[in-house]
Amino acid sequence: MAPVVCFGALVVALVFTLRTCHVVALLTEASSRQSFSGWGMQETDYNMRYQALLRDEVVARLKQLGNVSDANDFLQRTFLSPAAVKAGHLIEAWMQDAGLLTWVDDIGNVHGRLEGANVSAPALLLGSHLDTVIDAGYYDGALGILTAIAAVKVLNREGKSHLFPHPIEIIAFSDEEGVRFQTTFLGSQAVAGTFQPHMLDVADKRGITVGAALQSASFEGTVESVDKLKYDPASVWGYVEVHIEQGPVLEAQGLPLGVVEAIAGQTRLMVTIRGSQGHAGTVPMNLRKDPMPAAAQSIVAIEQLCTHSEKASGGSHGTSTMSTAANSAGSIVCTVGEIHSWPGASNVIPGEVIFTVDVRTKDDSLREHTVVSIEHSIQTICKGRGVSCTIERKHEAAAMSCGPGLSDRLQAAALTAMQELHPFRRSVSMVDESQYDTIFAPMLVSGAGHDAMAMSHLTQVGMLFVRCTGGISHSPAEHVLDDDIWASSLALLRFMEGVLGDLSFLNM
Ligand SMILES: [Zn+2]
Repeated sequence: MAPVVCFGALVVALVFTLRTCHVVALLTEASSRQSFSGWGMQETDYNMRYQALLRDEVVARLKQLGNVSDANDFLQRTFLSPAAVKAGHLIEAWMQDAGLLTWVDDIGNVHGRLEGANVSAPALLLGSHLDTVIDAGYYDGALGILTAIAAVKVLNREGKSHLFPHPIEIIAFSDEEGVRFQTTFLGSQAVAGTFQPHMLDVADKRGITVGAALQSASFEGTVESVDKLKYDPASVWGYVEVHIEQGPVLEAQGLPLGVVEAIAGQTRLMVTIRGSQGHAGTVPMNLRKDPMPAAAQSIVAIEQLCTHSEKASGGSHGTSTMSTAANSAGSIVCTVGEIHSWPGASNVIPGEVIFTVDVRTKDDSLREHTVVSIEHSIQTICKGRGVSCTIERKHEAAAMSCGPGLSDRLQAAALTAMQELHPFRRSVSMVDESQYDTIFAPMLVSGAGHDAMAMSHLTQVGMLFVRCTGGISHSPAEHVLDDDIWASSLALLRFMEGVLGDLSFLNM
């Protein structure tokens, strides 16, 4: 986990210049008091200060980061793309502003660290991912990074960070969405020590491998260089991630925060069906070997299989949304989200059709059973239509349970934050007035994968979910209320203060 290469080296890939890493001296308690001379004078004033750092600055930075895109008309940042490099540069600067020592590792993750009271104690890791899907919203991934920076900034400026019993490290992971290489968690798997060497040979749509992409960004891009990024489990105390819920459950309950108890397992398939390419006007229907109807029939069969599996397991009926995965034990959701044909012309019978299948549930045995059924069904359809098909399992991730200790702490911190903020946000209707006495942070199952899944192989993990409007995510319509952002960063701060309080208790 030693610093390997400064973020400037990543930029160098584009501009061919070098610069040195910036190491920012940690803010002293004296300087922080000087900057925040009014703190503690009035309770209202105190909270308004929090608002400036924990809400307003995070909101402004989310918007700034949301405009860092590889596309002109929508948000897209993929692994090691120019926009991803630029975003990493911004994040590194914000980490330094919070008083963190920063570096970029050999897979493009941006790190910022405070040593706390004991440099040899296992570290508390915080973070999320800086990459995005295509046509993304502002909050997925970025929210977890920026709320962590804000909470640590307050902790540091309050002069509490040097008392913290663990080093605190924020990591902005370089790849979680897997858009470029059709595989997820490149950044967090390297840190967790589960990065498989063959991943360096996986190619993107232009034929550029992960290894080559790293090398062109001035990283070594070797098995050895990635292997060195693995953290010693004994050096880590836990990993905590704030993330938008990406589903409508919290909104439906009128609550801004929830705590994740488990993340659903996931399988991603790539199905390739090959037939006979031909002229759309000259080949009779009974003489065709057309892969497109085979793909269409397969996709409908997948929907039926998964709907049937969900009903059989007692899950919600037929509504294949994240919300069902987030709530119904054993429910399963299946999605065909990408399809391509070759040569893709209106007057040509395609020679090849490729589509993806995404299968998720928190029940690993149900997922495996369903995937096998899908594979069997597709093979049967292809055989009946005289076309060939190959099915590759591109990604597998087992379901994951969060650390109950961390989850309990997060739940208490979330409750504290919601109750603290309630008097300051009546006009925003954070919760109904009538519900004030019943505010709580519900436990949820995540149907979406997160870096916490990869990090669970290294250490105990905890996740805080934040309400998003309409449950919409992976869309430019993705939105989180400003005050919900405030609640999440305050909850993270209260979580860390709770850990700090443990040390005070032990020393009494
Ligand atoms: Zn995400």
